Amino acid sequence: MARTEAAYLDDAYLSTLEARVLAHEGERGIVVDRCNFYPAGGGQPGDTGSIELGDGRQIAVTDTRYGEDRAAIVLHLGDGDLPAPGETVVLHVDWPRRYKMMRMHTALHLLTVVCPYPVTGAAVGEDESRLDFDLPDADTDKDEVTKALARLVAENHKVFTRWITDEELDANPGLVKSANVRPPRGTGRVRVVAIGEDGGVDSQPCGGTHVGETQEIGEIHVAKIEKKGRTNRRFRLRFGRLPA
Ligand SMILES: [Zn+2]
Repeated sequence: MARTEAAYLDDAYLSTLEARVLAHEGERGIVVDRCNFYPAGGGQPGDTGSIELGDGRQIAVTDTRYGEDRAAIVLHLGDGDLPAPGETVVLHVDWPRRYKMMRMHTALHLLTVVCPYPVTGAAVGEDESRLDFDLPDADTDKDEVTKALARLVAENHKVFTRWITDEELDANPGLVKSANVRPPRGTGRVRVVAIGEDGGVDSQPCGGTHVGETQEIGEIHVAKIEKKGRTNRRFRLRFGRLPA
């Protein structure tokens, strides 16, 4: 069974990585031995970009997905002859797109600090991201939330990951902010994304990609707070200043 080493988990800044093709998957998919492309999951879309073959040819990567068993990562390729298993290729992530995802994704973590309510849904996007909260009262003010976010960004807290055991997670149920998604089990360890000294600003299980310091998020604002059902509030984040 093909297994891919998820290199993006250890270093989210690997825009380029050399890898070996292990197998073909479906019509246009290849499985590689290690991967800097993020596979779609946790509300964050799969990475796009290109692969570079030994002869210099480039083939577009249109999407990145987990294989069925989640052990393999599959790069979905555009037009061109697929590289054969055993071939070495260079994986180039569409970095401007992915870096925006990292900034947005980290901003969503900060939003759960400013708005400490159970999260019922999340989606990371290049231009807009959203978080759904189980929050009956609609008195949350988007200007105040935007200001609180800006403060956390400007304080430039470091963002880092650590691994804890399933038992440690069980002993700290407050780490899980999602009301309906449990962190994946089975490997005996859980990846925690921490913000601030010793994770003092925030700590939560997450398998996504994040920036190294909150200042990298840059200017961001709450564009909209929508009512989606009786107890559900949807917060939409966008880059740039809050429009006057
Ligand atoms: Zn995350």
